[in-house]
Amino acid sequence: MRDTDLFQLALGLTSPWKVMRSEFSAGDGQLDLHVDFPAGSRFACAECGHEGCGAHDTKSETWRHLDFFQHRTFLHARTPRVICPTCGVHKVNVPWARAGSGFTLLFEAYVLALAKAMPIANIAEWMGENDTRLWRILEHYVWEAVEKQDLSELRQIAADETSARRGHDYISLFVDMGSRKVVYVAEGKDAGTVKEFADFLESHGGDREAISDASIDMGAAFESGIKENFANAEITFDKFHVIKLANEAVDEVRREEARNNYQIKGRRYIFLKNVGNLTTEEKEALSGLEAQNLDTTQAMQIRMNLQQLFTMGAKSARRFLLLLERLGSDKRSGADEKAGQDDHGQGGRHSAINRYRPFQRGSGGDQRQRPSRQTQGQGLTSIPTEAKADISPGRVSSALGFAQSGEADDGASAGCGGADQSKSGKTIEPAAGDRA
Ligand SMILES: [Zn+2]
Repeated sequence: MRDTDLFQLALGLTSPWKVMRSEFSAGDGQLDLHVDFPAGSRFACAECGHEGCGAHDTKSETWRHLDFFQHRTFLHARTPRVICPTCGVHKVNVPWARAGSGFTLLFEAYVLALAKAMPIANIAEWMGENDTRLWRILEHYVWEAVEKQDLSELRQIAADETSARRGHDYISLFVDMGSRKVVYVAEGKDAGTVKEFADFLESHGGDREAISDASIDMGAAFESGIKENFANAEITFDKFHVIKLANEAVDEVRREEARNNYQIKGRRYIFLKNVGNLTTEEKEALSGLEAQNLDTTQAMQIRMNLQQLFTMGAKSARRFLLLLERLGSDKRSGADEKAGQDDHGQGGRHSAINRYRPFQRGSGGDQRQRPSRQTQGQGLTSIPTEAKADISPGRVSSALGFAQSGEADDGASAGCGGADQSKSGKTIEPAAGDRA
């Protein structure tokens, strides 16, 4: 078999295209394959598909192909322009490359496969190729895929923002929660961005009225954007953002308390990390701090309660929220100040590490049980009002999607109020009973 026949087979070329000759330069590490067609060949029109068009003229072109072992490989051919009776003179589509690309389809497929696993700059360096050219490949296929999307089945969406550089160049990602795929990316992060997505959805077979759920962060922009554009969507606050807010509150308490306690200065991460992720040294440090009856530890326990909530089944979570709701109303009425102590028995403080029991906390309880703490004006009372409002039961139950259930429509007594309650500023204080 001749080398040209071998390359002919390897490239999968069909009539009228033939590999005419190959040149290998060992010094340059380069293989050049010259492809051509016999005189009198006929081609299909690239515009309308009309077969049997004769060549009008040709233009020499080069495409980079997959490396032949470690050697860079190029395809060279003269691409004909044909005269179509309907469309006039047009360049034909060659079978090994898409129009306008300087790479063969196999090379592009290889780049796309690599791009899933590594940065373009690394691919470019590794392949000895200009990264701008590789980005063009990626952009072509990504946009092609974006435009081809059929969003008619989309029901549950999630939106989140991210920034290319810290605090700059925000983009918003819209995700199909069903397929767990990003379906749209837009510049910016405001309510207008949501509208842009709604328009995109409808231009791709989707229906904004059909969107039943939207998972978002707690920013006002997305919330108002969803309400304006997806009237039937129940809003769920994303767990990550709910916990992030709780963590910010924990740190607020720690900073406040650290003014009078040098031991917790600079120990931010002990309280922010999940206990399971603490090092042995950090666990020991946390155990030592627990004996001090710190507000920060209490705040940390509230956050852990909240995290626990997300691991519960719907029934348990609802029960848990009921408890929180009762805590909230007890606190407001001031009628149950002793309950926390009574329910709590002699257990004393819980250890955040070993004795964390979200369901066995007393119902009720109040900071007023501890006048010394109250007079210090520290601890949970130092969580900013805004943060308290944000982790209200209404918002958390809304975050869990309970507001959608029929039971929740009964109102506040269900402990699962929706948007109305979320603005009432009620606070979650599951650890209040702990304070006995
Ligand atoms: Zn035509």
